[in-house]
Amino acid sequence: MFLDSSAFVVRKTRWGRGVFARRELPAGFVIGDYLGIVDVPRDEGVDALYAMMLSLYRWVYPVEPKRSEGVHVVNHSCEPNAGIFPHRGHVLLSTTRRVFAGEEITFDYWMTQPEAGEDWHRCLCGSSFCRGSFSMGSARQEELVRRLFISNAWAGAKRKVRVGEKLAPLPRYPRSTRDLAAYNVFGHPELAPEEVYDEKLDHARLRALIRETGRRVWLPRSGSLVYGSHDGRLIIDA
Ligand SMILES: [Zn+2]
Repeated sequence: MFLDSSAFVVRKTRWGRGVFARRELPAGFVIGDYLGIVDVPRDEGVDALYAMMLSLYRWVYPVEPKRSEGVHVVNHSCEPNAGIFPHRGHVLLSTTRRVFAGEEITFDYWMTQPEAGEDWHRCLCGSSFCRGSFSMGSARQEELVRRLFISNAWAGAKRKVRVGEKLAPLPRYPRSTRDLAAYNVFGHPELAPEEVYDEKLDHARLRALIRETGRRVWLPRSGSLVYGSHDGRLIIDA
Protein backbone atom coordinates (compact mmCIF):
# COMPACT_ATOMS: atom_id res chain seq x y z
CA MET A 1 0.00 0.00 0.00
CA PHE A 2 1.08 3.58 -0.69
CA LEU A 3 0.11 6.08 1.99
CA ASP A 4 -0.34 8.79 -0.65
CA SER A 5 -0.78 7.12 -4.02
CA SER A 6 -0.78 10.51 -5.79
CA ALA A 7 2.94 10.82 -4.93
CA PHE A 8 3.98 7.69 -6.88
CA VAL A 9 3.61 6.04 -10.25
CA VAL A 10 4.36 2.40 -11.06
CA ARG A 11 6.04 2.06 -14.46
CA LYS A 12 7.62 -0.68 -16.52
CA THR A 13 11.39 -0.86 -16.26
CA ARG A 14 13.98 -2.99 -18.04
CA TRP A 15 13.60 -5.65 -15.34
CA GLY A 16 9.87 -5.54 -14.65
CA ARG A 17 8.12 -2.81 -12.72
CA GLY A 18 9.41 0.01 -10.56
CA VAL A 19 8.05 2.80 -8.39
CA PHE A 20 8.83 6.42 -9.29
CA ALA A 21 8.28 9.65 -7.34
CA ARG A 22 5.89 12.07 -9.03
CA ARG A 23 7.10 14.96 -6.92
CA GLU A 24 9.92 15.91 -4.57
CA LEU A 25 9.76 14.19 -1.18
CA PRO A 26 11.64 15.09 2.01
CA ALA A 27 13.80 12.61 3.94
CA GLY A 28 11.76 10.44 6.28
CA PHE A 29 8.65 10.60 4.09
CA VAL A 30 6.56 7.47 4.72
CA ILE A 31 6.03 5.87 1.30
CA GLY A 32 3.85 2.98 2.39
CA ASP A 33 3.22 -0.12 4.44
CA TYR A 34 3.73 -3.81 3.62
CA LEU A 35 0.24 -5.24 3.93
CA GLY A 36 -0.99 -8.72 3.06
CA ILE A 37 -1.38 -12.15 4.60
CA VAL A 38 0.88 -13.16 7.48
CA ASP A 39 2.60 -16.51 7.18
CA VAL A 40 5.79 -18.32 8.10
CA PRO A 41 8.93 -17.57 6.04
CA ARG A 42 8.98 -19.44 2.70
CA ASP A 43 11.75 -19.32 0.15
CA GLU A 44 9.78 -20.67 -2.79
CA GLY A 45 7.08 -19.37 -5.09
CA VAL A 46 6.47 -16.05 -6.79
CA ASP A 47 4.79 -14.56 -3.74
CA ALA A 48 7.96 -15.13 -1.68
CA LEU A 49 9.78 -12.72 -4.01
CA TYR A 50 7.44 -9.95 -2.86
CA ALA A 51 7.25 -10.90 0.81
CA MET A 52 8.58 -8.74 3.64
CA MET A 53 9.97 -9.97 6.91
CA LEU A 54 8.01 -8.90 10.01
CA SER A 55 10.10 -10.93 12.44
CA LEU A 56 12.25 -14.07 12.44
CA TYR A 57 9.14 -16.26 12.30
CA ARG A 58 6.61 -14.15 10.42
CA TRP A 59 6.60 -12.69 6.91
CA VAL A 60 3.82 -10.72 5.21
CA TYR A 61 2.82 -11.74 1.68
CA PRO A 62 1.13 -9.03 -0.45
CA VAL A 63 -2.13 -10.15 -2.09
CA GLU A 64 -1.88 -10.72 -5.88
CA PRO A 65 1.61 -9.20 -5.88
CA LYS A 66 2.05 -9.28 -9.66
CA ARG A 67 -1.16 -7.35 -10.30
CA SER A 68 -1.31 -5.02 -7.34
CA GLU A 69 0.63 -1.79 -6.81
CA GLY A 70 2.34 -0.79 -3.59
CA VAL A 71 5.66 -0.80 -1.80
CA HIS A 72 6.20 -4.48 -2.69
CA VAL A 73 6.97 -3.32 -6.27
CA VAL A 74 9.91 -1.15 -5.13
CA ASN A 75 13.21 -2.44 -6.54
CA HIS A 76 16.52 -3.07 -4.83
CA SER A 77 19.55 -0.81 -5.20
CA CYS A 78 22.95 -0.86 -3.53
CA GLU A 79 22.73 2.98 -3.56
CA PRO A 80 19.15 3.41 -2.36
CA ASN A 81 17.04 6.44 -1.48
CA ALA A 82 14.61 4.60 0.83
CA GLY A 83 14.73 2.09 3.67
CA ILE A 84 12.52 -0.16 5.73
CA PHE A 85 11.31 1.05 9.11
CA PRO A 86 9.76 -1.40 11.60
CA HIS A 87 6.81 0.28 13.32
CA ARG A 88 4.22 -1.27 15.66
CA GLY A 89 4.44 -4.76 14.20
CA HIS A 90 4.41 -3.46 10.60
CA VAL A 91 7.24 -2.68 8.22
CA LEU A 92 7.01 0.73 6.58
CA LEU A 93 9.07 2.00 3.68
CA SER A 94 10.25 5.59 3.91
CA THR A 95 12.74 7.83 2.14
CA THR A 96 16.24 7.93 3.65
CA ARG A 97 17.11 11.20 1.90
CA ARG A 98 15.34 13.88 -0.13
CA VAL A 99 13.98 12.28 -3.31
CA PHE A 100 13.54 14.28 -6.51
CA ALA A 101 10.59 14.22 -8.91
CA GLY A 102 10.98 11.42 -11.44
CA GLU A 103 13.47 9.39 -9.40
CA GLU A 104 12.97 5.69 -8.98
CA ILE A 105 12.40 4.69 -5.35
CA THR A 106 14.77 1.91 -4.23
CA PHE A 107 15.89 0.27 -1.02
CA ASP A 108 18.53 -2.25 -0.02
CA TYR A 109 16.94 -5.71 0.23
CA TRP A 110 19.52 -6.91 2.80
CA MET A 111 19.03 -10.50 1.72
CA THR A 112 20.87 -13.47 3.16
CA GLN A 113 23.62 -15.14 1.18
CA PRO A 114 22.24 -17.49 -1.48
CA GLU A 115 22.63 -21.20 -0.85
CA ALA A 116 25.11 -23.18 -2.92
CA GLY A 117 23.92 -23.31 -6.54
CA GLU A 118 21.59 -20.29 -6.20
CA ASP A 119 22.53 -17.15 -8.07
CA TRP A 120 19.26 -15.24 -8.32
CA HIS A 121 20.56 -12.56 -5.95
CA ARG A 122 22.69 -11.05 -8.75
CA CYS A 123 22.32 -7.27 -8.69
CA LEU A 124 21.95 -5.13 -11.81
CA CYS A 125 21.26 -1.82 -10.03
CA GLY A 126 23.97 -0.07 -12.05
CA SER A 127 25.29 1.96 -9.11
CA SER A 128 29.01 2.60 -8.91
CA PHE A 129 28.69 1.26 -5.35
CA CYS A 130 26.99 -1.95 -6.50
CA ARG A 131 28.21 -4.96 -4.51
CA GLY A 132 27.07 -7.32 -7.28
CA SER A 133 24.40 -9.07 -5.23
CA PHE A 134 21.18 -8.28 -3.35
CA SER A 135 22.59 -10.28 -0.49
CA MET A 136 25.10 -9.09 2.05
CA GLY A 137 27.59 -10.88 4.24
CA SER A 138 25.86 -13.13 6.76
CA ALA A 139 27.33 -11.36 9.78
CA ARG A 140 26.11 -7.94 8.59
CA GLN A 141 22.69 -9.28 7.66
CA GLU A 142 22.30 -10.98 11.03
CA GLU A 143 23.30 -7.78 12.78
CA LEU A 144 20.68 -5.75 10.87
CA VAL A 145 17.98 -8.32 11.52
CA ARG A 146 18.83 -8.44 15.20
CA ARG A 147 18.89 -4.69 15.50
CA LEU A 148 15.75 -3.89 13.52
CA PHE A 149 13.51 -6.90 13.64
CA ILE A 150 14.12 -8.36 17.06
CA SER A 151 14.45 -5.33 19.27
CA ASN A 152 12.25 -2.84 17.37
CA ALA A 153 9.80 -4.72 15.24
CA TRP A 154 7.13 -5.31 17.84
CA ALA A 155 7.65 -2.17 19.86
CA GLY A 156 4.28 -0.47 20.16
CA ALA A 157 2.43 -3.37 18.51
CA LYS A 158 -0.83 -4.31 20.18
CA ARG A 159 0.01 -8.00 19.85
CA LYS A 160 1.94 -10.37 17.64
CA VAL A 161 0.19 -11.27 14.40
CA ARG A 162 -0.94 -14.82 13.71
CA VAL A 163 -0.40 -17.01 10.67
CA GLY A 164 -3.21 -16.56 8.13
CA GLU A 165 -4.17 -13.17 9.50
CA LYS A 166 -4.61 -10.26 7.12
CA LEU A 167 -2.41 -7.36 8.11
CA ALA A 168 -4.72 -4.32 7.92
CA PRO A 169 -3.61 -0.68 7.67
CA LEU A 170 -2.65 0.93 10.97
CA PRO A 171 -5.10 3.51 12.35
CA ARG A 172 -2.32 6.10 12.20
CA TYR A 173 1.07 6.39 10.55
CA PRO A 174 4.00 8.54 11.68
CA ARG A 175 4.31 11.87 9.87
CA SER A 176 7.93 11.04 9.19
CA THR A 177 10.54 8.50 10.23
CA ARG A 178 13.95 9.17 11.72
CA ASP A 179 17.34 8.20 10.33
CA LEU A 180 18.52 4.73 11.38
CA ALA A 181 22.20 3.82 11.64
CA ALA A 182 21.43 0.71 9.57
CA TYR A 183 20.78 2.79 6.44
CA ASN A 184 23.43 3.66 3.93
CA VAL A 185 22.76 7.22 2.82
CA PHE A 186 23.99 8.45 -0.59
CA GLY A 187 23.50 11.78 -2.34
CA HIS A 188 21.84 11.76 -5.77
CA PRO A 189 24.49 10.42 -8.22
CA GLU A 190 23.79 12.91 -11.02
CA LEU A 191 22.67 16.18 -9.47
CA ALA A 192 25.11 18.97 -8.61
CA PRO A 193 26.46 18.49 -5.09
CA GLU A 194 25.75 20.80 -2.18
CA GLU A 195 28.73 23.13 -1.64
CA VAL A 196 29.86 23.51 1.95
CA TYR A 197 32.57 25.89 3.12
CA ASP A 198 32.51 24.80 6.75
CA GLU A 199 35.14 22.04 6.72
CA LYS A 200 34.60 21.19 10.37
CA LEU A 201 31.41 19.23 9.76
CA ASP A 202 31.67 15.81 11.34
CA HIS A 203 30.25 12.57 9.99
CA ALA A 204 26.85 12.98 11.66
CA ARG A 205 26.34 16.51 10.28
CA LEU A 206 27.51 15.59 6.77
CA ARG A 207 25.17 12.63 6.80
CA ALA A 208 22.30 14.83 7.99
CA LEU A 209 23.08 17.32 5.21
CA ILE A 210 23.05 14.61 2.51
CA ARG A 211 19.80 13.30 3.94
CA GLU A 212 18.19 16.72 4.02
CA THR A 213 19.38 18.00 0.61
CA GLY A 214 19.40 14.64 -1.21
CA ARG A 215 22.74 15.64 -2.74
CA ARG A 216 26.39 14.71 -2.41
CA VAL A 217 28.50 17.30 -0.57
CA TRP A 218 31.38 19.19 -2.20
CA LEU A 219 33.99 20.66 0.15
CA PRO A 220 35.83 23.17 -2.09
CA ARG A 221 38.52 24.08 0.45
CA SER A 222 39.86 20.54 0.65
CA GLY A 223 38.65 19.55 -2.81
CA SER A 224 36.71 16.56 -1.46
CA LEU A 225 33.45 15.09 -2.65
CA VAL A 226 31.40 13.23 -0.05
CA TYR A 227 29.26 10.59 -1.76
CA GLY A 228 27.54 9.26 1.29
CA SER A 229 27.65 7.45 4.59
CA HIS A 230 28.12 3.69 4.26
CA ASP A 231 28.33 1.11 7.06
CA GLY A 232 29.32 3.78 9.58
CA ARG A 233 31.94 5.46 7.37
CA LEU A 234 31.92 8.43 5.03
CA ILE A 235 32.64 7.68 1.39
CA ILE A 236 34.88 10.52 0.23
CA ASP A 237 36.76 11.13 -2.98
CA ALA A 238 39.56 13.47 -1.93
ZN1 LIG B 1 23.66 -3.28 -6.89
